[in-house]
Amino acid sequence: MIRKISMLTAAVGFIVATTGAFAAYPEKPISVVVPFAAGGPTDVVARSLAQAMGTQLKGSMIVENVGGAGGTIGAGKVARAPGDGYTLLFHHIGMSTAPALYRKLDFKPLEDFIPIGAVVDVPMTIIAKPTMAQANAKDLLTFVRANKEKINLANAGVGSASHLCGLLLQNAMKTDLTTVPFSGTGPAMTALLGGNVDLMCDQTTNTSGQIKGGKVKAYAVTSKGKLANFPELPPLGAELPGFEVGVWHILYAPKNTPADVVTKLQSSLQAAIKDAGFAAKMKDLGAEIMPVDRQTSAGAKALLTSEIAKWSPIIQSAKAYAD
Ligand code: ASP
Repeated sequence: MIRKISMLTAAVGFIVATTGAFAAYPEKPISVVVPFAAGGPTDVVARSLAQAMGTQLKGSMIVENVGGAGGTIGAGKVARAPGDGYTLLFHHIGMSTAPALYRKLDFKPLEDFIPIGAVVDVPMTIIAKPTMAQANAKDLLTFVRANKEKINLANAGVGSASHLCGLLLQNAMKTDLTTVPFSGTGPAMTALLGGNVDLMCDQTTNTSGQIKGGKVKAYAVTSKGKLANFPELPPLGAELPGFEVGVWHILYAPKNTPADVVTKLQSSLQAAIKDAGFAAKMKDLGAEIMPVDRQTSAGAKALLTSEIAKWSPIIQSAKAYAD
């Protein structure tokens, strides 16, 4: 009898301690790894989200930029981090293209992470250095085809959204261009503004300000139709039929993160997305908020799974591998 009571007491104590531990989460700052350089589009969204989620969690979320190799270095770092809720990853479509692009990848997107929820879907824009003389997308494509040895295309490395968009562009144009990789399109934008690279395809979350300020030449959007923020820009599909890319973003925790922590992160992500300041900033930058059913662990996992299935054969047929 005494043994039974002490076992019961121990079990109750364990439940209380466990529940207490999760109720107190977060007890220290949470690091959100962005697998690209600071100042770029993924970073901009991550910082806004981190601020809004930090408020919801009554704690702080600190963005850590771990750029390089198209986002695979930062993602690999989080895959190996403890699943304790204190190291998260904010990544985009590159999570679904990396398995087909990299022969050697030190993480498995579907096995090493628990998606917390999808956040935004961001269209891309085709932009060029300020001195590019061509007046519209049609003239730009004609010029690029005729000068392919001289034109280069900036990107954020193999596996980045800018790389994927550039790959689709070169395939659709049947033209190979020299690509120039950066640790993110933040630094790539600096090179483009200085005329050190010619062209780039990048998310509106990085290009909006430069386009509106007339700092770069803008030619097209990669959405199916026109965008409310840039009514003057045609969809690239008008010149290259079927061309369409959208850059979805998901917040992840490493595998083994306790379910209670995932649930807490998921509800604070959903509340942060509703935050008026976050929503207004995303609208201003041309980012579309994900539907509520995607702002969940299950919805984000379904999105990642379907995107891996969508992009892998396209990348394999383009034979675009990296080591
Ligand atoms: N826009 C970049 C990309 O091409 C990443 C970044 O710098 O956020 O994936």
